[in-house]
Amino acid sequence: MPDFDLYRPSEEHDMLRETVRSLAEAKIAPFAAAVDEEARFPQEALDALVAADLHAVHVPEEYGGAGADALATVLVIEEVARVCASSSLIPAVNKLGSLPVILSGSEELKKKYLGPLAKGDAMFSYCLSEPDAGSDAAGMKTRAVRDGDFWVLNGVKRWITNAGESEFYTVMAVTDPEKRSKGISAFVVEKSDEGVSFGAPEKKLGIKGSPTREVYLDNVRIPADRMIGAEGTGFATAMKTLDHTRITIAAQALGIAQGALDYAKGYVRERRQFGKPIADFQGVQFMLADMAMKIEAARQLTYAAAAKSERGDRDLTFQGAAAKCFASDVAMEVTTDAVQLLGGYGYTRDYPVERMMRDAKITQIYEGTNQVQRIVMARNLP
Ligand SMILES: Cc1cc2nc3c(=O)[nH]c(=O)nc-3n(C[C@H](O)[C@H](O)[C@H](O)COP(=O)(O)OP(=O)(O)OC[C@H]3O[C@@H](n4cnc5c(N)ncnc54)[C@H](O)[C@@H]3O)c2cc1C
Repeated sequence: MPDFDLYRPSEEHDMLRETVRSLAEAKIAPFAAAVDEEARFPQEALDALVAADLHAVHVPEEYGGAGADALATVLVIEEVARVCASSSLIPAVNKLGSLPVILSGSEELKKKYLGPLAKGDAMFSYCLSEPDAGSDAAGMKTRAVRDGDFWVLNGVKRWITNAGESEFYTVMAVTDPEKRSKGISAFVVEKSDEGVSFGAPEKKLGIKGSPTREVYLDNVRIPADRMIGAEGTGFATAMKTLDHTRITIAAQALGIAQGALDYAKGYVRERRQFGKPIADFQGVQFMLADMAMKIEAARQLTYAAAAKSERGDRDLTFQGAAAKCFASDVAMEVTTDAVQLLGGYGYTRDYPVERMMRDAKITQIYEGTNQVQRIVMARNLP
């Protein structure tokens, strides 16, 4: 039986949500349309999040962070995504990139890399995917070869969120090609390491404000102590990380869906047809009811998964995949319905719901497509 008390947001969680909501509405929402239109990094959002210490709340206190729990991290991401999905990838990817270090890194690595992240001096990206290794991530080709006290990395990582903006990168690379997933190790690579460069930003359907670029590793020579955990454990760490961070993508999806519902709710009260607000039509009311019902179901699943992440429950793998898969499908449905409720106006860039619909799509694709989530769930049935 689920322990309901443990995933009921506390008063502190409620206060945190209020704080993030006002900050997001005042300092992030005003730039969301421009960030999308100009496909530029949401610097205003980064500045506002860093100033309020909300850019990487998951970093433990002993390394200078806020030490927020998984539910608090979810609330930050949800509330930022409600106004700007691109900006919500700042706290989300900071967690994704740094969690391998938190879960498996040495004390020295934690001290060296989590401090600057907590302070807001550096962001962290996560480099698993490659041009020919997406869903089949263990089929990666990036190689790390030992050379005395160093490792030398060569390869191409693709689709890396915040590439070029982040100072630090967790990079998964093959250290023993004979062993497939057990021959993969994880490393911290710095933007300033010689041989690191970036591809042109991808031209995307949505989350246009979030830079997605290739990361090129050309004879990147790094000290051996930059390995995260033991040799050969990188893939396991990468997968364990995703168990926790898929919940943050669920949170992003939830926020996007809530933003679309909130906008549509206001619009239908104002828009008049046949002599009355369209909100008076039962056909419209039923759509809104369904949207709100689906969002609430996604929220319960996501918060329950966050509690499991915090406790490290055994069924986290199933629950994280379920939350991500369900919430992202809900986000796609709800944002599409929001466009429908605005009619022709919803189809234009003069209103935010078309952006939200485009942004929602990515939540069904990254951190494992929803087909992959179903594979994960089927292998870990409760
Ligand atoms: C905007 C963006 C940001 C991203 N950010 C990051 C990042 O920061 N770091 C990172 O490492 N990666 C990142 N990714 C990569 C992302 O996780 C991959 O795109 C995703 O895992 C899918 O891989 P793929 O694109 O190679 O698709 P493919 O694996 O080629 O899949 C193509 C289709 O085949 C389906 N498919 C594949 N295998 C199976 C199967 N066994 N059963 C059923 N269906 C299957 C997939 O579901 C999909 O529909 C990002 C991607 C995007 C687009």
